Amino acid sequence: MSRMQNLTILGATGSIGLNTLDVAARHPQRFRIFALSANERIDALADLCLRHKPRYAVVAHADQARALGARLDAGATQILIGAQGLEQVSAHPETDCVMAAIVGAAGLAPTLAAARAGKKLLLANKEALVMAGPIFMDAVRTHRATLLPIDSEHNAIFQCLPSFLAGDLGSHGVRRVLLTASGGPFRETDLARLQSVTPDEACAHPNWVMGRKISVDSATMMNKALEIIEAHWLFGATPEQIQVVIHPQSVVHSMVEYADGSVIAQLGNPDMRTPIAHALAYPERIEAGVGSLDLSRVGRLDFAQPDFVRFPALRLGYRALEEGGTSPATLNAANEIAVAAFLERRLPFLAITAVIEAVMNEMRPRPLASLDDVLEADAAARRHAALQVAAMAARA
Ligand code: NAD
Ligand code: MG
Repeated sequence: MSRMQNLTILGATGSIGLNTLDVAARHPQRFRIFALSANERIDALADLCLRHKPRYAVVAHADQARALGARLDAGATQILIGAQGLEQVSAHPETDCVMAAIVGAAGLAPTLAAARAGKKLLLANKEALVMAGPIFMDAVRTHRATLLPIDSEHNAIFQCLPSFLAGDLGSHGVRRVLLTASGGPFRETDLARLQSVTPDEACAHPNWVMGRKISVDSATMMNKALEIIEAHWLFGATPEQIQVVIHPQSVVHSMVEYADGSVIAQLGNPDMRTPIAHALAYPERIEAGVGSLDLSRVGRLDFAQPDFVRFPALRLGYRALEEGGTSPATLNAANEIAVAAFLERRLPFLAITAVIEAVMNEMRPRPLASLDDVLEADAAARRHAALQVAAMAARA
């Protein structure tokens, strides 16, 4: 039996955070909830604190801390505030394992802090890795953190690769990684209709229930673009070694093809508790609350090539990876601004990728040597993207 692990969950009130709590609560002899964080929905965080009794809870500002404190028994949970609080619980000497499930660039600092503290780091927050790939991976190596991917595709690839991976993929006989993609809710929608789709339509994913930002990313396929870059940093795959395959059923979560022609796939019901449980217990296996995959009910598995015209985001993902340096950080920041504008109904759906491409055209990629380079590129891309959004909204 493995020893008790103290678990810190960054972004506990989100879709990944709640799924993590669900899996952890099935194994009280393995996992103690040490710290939980939330940026909003303080009532939901209070309920989680009452149920899981963490040592720490982290909120964004003092008003929230007061509201949370009023709901909790005095002394039961210590309340911390802001970026400093997040980094404190990430790097805390008593934290064994950090689930990085804050959405977007806001998750970068605490996720990096967990890597620098050498933690077992469960990475859902793909944006952090996309922005700061080389710095992040360097921190993982230098501080001997254990990095486990939560993104279902990358978790699948991790499961299909040799257990000990060092050096380039080719030296392990790997030919390619095949990233599956459902194609989202608009895979077959009439192109003319896409101009007027609403945020709720974009967030109605056929197979997964997720936060709104990643749901829009799935609808534009920017999610897959980010995942191409994520696969590069996690596994050292070159752009040529990463192929996207449309698979509408989301049963094959991704595959690895070897030099001898073998293709190894990981399958399962589309339920994030599977990759979460895999990473939480790694290298052991634990119950996740996920039912057996009934292949006779699934009936058929379809595969197709992605449509780069319908989904220009895919092209932008490969472009950012080829350009390197600050280009992925630019892509990510412009996407966050454009998606937020779409969710607030300030920007039409098809303009999301148009904004990102315009920002990438404006901003020349720079070398990425430090975290400051990342943060500068991120801030500049946000400014450019906000101007693009305003210009496009004025035209619409
Ligand atoms: P979500 O919107 O449901 O939850 C986000 C969480 O982050 C919430 O707890 C929120 O309070 C917190 N948060 C948001 N902004 C913050 C800020 N500025 N500072 C601090 N905390 C903040 O999102 P999600 O769907 O759970 O996704 C979380 C991450 O996991 C994303 O990076 C996403 O790409 C990745 N991911 C999610 C899924 C999924 O199935 N939901 C699958 C793969 C990867
Ligand atoms: Mg994914």
